[in-house]
Amino acid sequence: MKRAVALVVFLALTVHVSHAQAESATSDTEWKAVTVNEASGYRILQTILELQTFETRDFHTEESAASALLIQQWMEDIGLETQLQEFEADGLIVVNVIGTLNPQSVSSDLHLIGAHYDSRNRYVTSITEAENESAPGADDNASGVAAMLEIAYVLASCERFEATTRFVAFGAEERGFVNKSGLAGSSAFAQAEADGGIGYGATFVMDMIGFQTENDSRMTIVTNNESANIAQSVTDAVVAYDIDLLVDIVSDESLRYSDHASFWDHGYPSILMIEELDPSTGAPVNPYYHTESDTANKLSIKQMEEIASALIGAVLDLTGPGEDSYSFPYSTVLAVAGVSGLALVVVAIARRKRRVS
Ligand SMILES: [Zn+2]
Repeated sequence: MKRAVALVVFLALTVHVSHAQAESATSDTEWKAVTVNEASGYRILQTILELQTFETRDFHTEESAASALLIQQWMEDIGLETQLQEFEADGLIVVNVIGTLNPQSVSSDLHLIGAHYDSRNRYVTSITEAENESAPGADDNASGVAAMLEIAYVLASCERFEATTRFVAFGAEERGFVNKSGLAGSSAFAQAEADGGIGYGATFVMDMIGFQTENDSRMTIVTNNESANIAQSVTDAVVAYDIDLLVDIVSDESLRYSDHASFWDHGYPSILMIEELDPSTGAPVNPYYHTESDTANKLSIKQMEEIASALIGAVLDLTGPGEDSYSFPYSTVLAVAGVSGLALVVVAIARRKRRVS
């Protein structure tokens, strides 16, 4: 009889705890899916429109410096802790804009999302021309900056996301008319992080994500062998969250034409997320980039939204269940409560037994 009571109680508790775990697993998937769906292509477009009003963001110009301050203000508005990091390019002081979400969280697996904010008109040959020629840079790369800010906004709005995440708008990615190397901002940033012993579990770079040739959303991921798992995390998210995006993965470490290469140089895992590449030239399909015609009206709102969603999904899944402060402690609390309850029942039965005997 007593054994039967104890067994029933134990079974009931077991069912209760495992049911709670199943429930929290379901809600775990749900809140992530809800968060992934928060990304808005219209907000991304709005940011691009505001960035292209600078006319140019050539890193030699005052407009470029002003756009960096606006990006910093936007990061502050989102709730990121910000700082400007100065570096030199073509003898000028240029800045990276760094924003950190959840700076207080204890996290051993820091993630970074970055995009360059400077633009370029390929026909410019002097500072005077840089100041006077238009380089709206909507696709290259207001699109990447705007998607990065959208991702920061969505993750900052999500109470259940607690992982420390860094967002960086890089300056002087473009080669400009003097400097032949390019990638100056990301190079300075990655060098400083490596010098400071800062580790990154994953770094994602977006550059030119808005143009499409047909009516479907496409993205190319450029990776090296060491970063294959990060590329996989993005394609996994596309499947898991049912995102309407065709992804082409290109594993080739000779493709160094954007800021991801600066991370590779210091052994950081990194991928570049970019629009469809022309199979014959290997260049992005947007024929207007680096010209005065790289404007927002040519971009796909949907494609940019899908890419932002995929990246949000990847970051949520990479931070893993260990970072989820709700489901795990909740089931632990239930399990502890269950064990305590069982102990009380056992004590009560023992007392009753003593009284009987
Ligand atoms: Zn670019």
